[in-house]
Amino acid sequence: MKILMVSSEAAPFAKEGGLGDVVSALSVALATMGHEVRVLMPFYGSLRHRERLQPMPAPFKVSLREEAWARLWQYSPQKNLTYYFIEHDRYFARPELYHNAQGSFADNPERFAFLSRAAMDLPFYLQWFPDVFHVHDWMASLVPVYLETTERHGRLGSSASVLTIHNLAHQGYAPRSILSFANLPDSLYQSDRLEACGGVNFLKGGIYFANKLTTVSPSYAEEIKTPSFGNGLDHVLRFRGGDLIGILNGLDDQVWNPMCDRYLQHHFSRNKLADKELCKADVVSQMGWNPKEKLPLFCAISRLYDQKGLDILADIVPWLIHTMQIRLLILGSGAPGLESHFRFLEQCFPERIKSYIGYSEELAHRMEAGADFLIMPSRFEPCGLNQLYSMRYGTLPIVRATGGLKDSVINYDEATGAGTGFVFQDLTHQSLYSTIGWACATYYDRPKALVQLRKNAMAKDFTWKQSAQRYQEVYQWARESKGLPRA
Ligand code: ADP
Repeated sequence: MKILMVSSEAAPFAKEGGLGDVVSALSVALATMGHEVRVLMPFYGSLRHRERLQPMPAPFKVSLREEAWARLWQYSPQKNLTYYFIEHDRYFARPELYHNAQGSFADNPERFAFLSRAAMDLPFYLQWFPDVFHVHDWMASLVPVYLETTERHGRLGSSASVLTIHNLAHQGYAPRSILSFANLPDSLYQSDRLEACGGVNFLKGGIYFANKLTTVSPSYAEEIKTPSFGNGLDHVLRFRGGDLIGILNGLDDQVWNPMCDRYLQHHFSRNKLADKELCKADVVSQMGWNPKEKLPLFCAISRLYDQKGLDILADIVPWLIHTMQIRLLILGSGAPGLESHFRFLEQCFPERIKSYIGYSEELAHRMEAGADFLIMPSRFEPCGLNQLYSMRYGTLPIVRATGGLKDSVINYDEATGAGTGFVFQDLTHQSLYSTIGWACATYYDRPKALVQLRKNAMAKDFTWKQSAQRYQEVYQWARESKGLPRA
């Protein structure tokens, strides 16, 4: 099958969260299965690994209301897989992806309408017509809208679309005038099309028009059909409920693998678990702590926003530190208030908590390998990748039972020794505190059970192979539901 991924992120070139990891790892998995995969994304000012890219000779025209010109760059890391980067300085030269310290960019709707429109023009430029456009989040949500309206009767009428919702909290709002900017008919400004709350909602348009919808875990697919998790679009998702499928993300086994992780000085596996202790000593020493003091190491690696629930953790840190012999390591950035709260806690308890405010791929890997427990008390979590990574590294996740966390972590059963982590239901200070306490007691009092839990977690198969096969089926269903032959 010919598949065109349209995304605002792809690792390792530009990534803010799980979206970038998923797009690249899924593309690699599909290409390895023999599909022809191409990925279109912006050429940001901060694009990494740009030295690998080749410029395409001919200029590229993007047919918005006013035509715009861009330069395309390409990169093929393996057979059947090519990335295309669209360079257009007015929209993408800035280093940040979506926002800077002043907030979200006001022209985000124009920037990503440009990306979606470019996805319509790319097949003609390349003379390569996809069987399926697989588009990701609101930033690419106008692609299905174009395909079912302005492009329906042209050459792209024989392409189907699949929209994956990685996070319903971000929907892309714009004034009505964005429709004419994007070269879309004003008739789409209706409440059963793109209109919402007196403006245009990109994601709503994608949800209405995509041939199939997916989200990144079965539980989240159910949750978003309810008012509590639906972010105002639950009625649209219920309407399209028959076409909405939850597929749990996988992890990139080349990047997240304790046996060959390039950021680690020591490697380990399920059968050579003792060497995990060396990784713990490395990260503990790196924090300036004494590795000979054998305290359980709890960590969190996360964007520091409301969704992640780490404000609840910050609130209980003094209580934890006064009552439990533990160390806590935080890696994250985000809301300034929460960043300074963690910095303040580090100043209060320097022997017990370190807060690394920033982004570090290397430290993330070293923490996943060296920590005993990973804390993810999310308010909602479409899938979550860190708990998958942590289980791969025998680091037991402590998670709230929501979305993909609920689907991927099995709660410890003391009677049988089964389980892959610690799960709690309600996001309250008390339940987070008690669950951390339970993990801490397991560490000190039942070391054999702890080793068994680590082995259980490491035995889980979260690689992309199975999930990529499900996506392949969804692509065929998308074509069938548009009345197109199987590809
Ligand atoms: P989300 O996509 O909501 O941010 P996920 O758990 O799905 O959450 O994915 C987060 C990804 O971003 C993981 O790869 C995680 O390691 C990475 N990450 C988040 N914050 C940081 C940080 N400060 N430094 C390094 N990696 C981070």
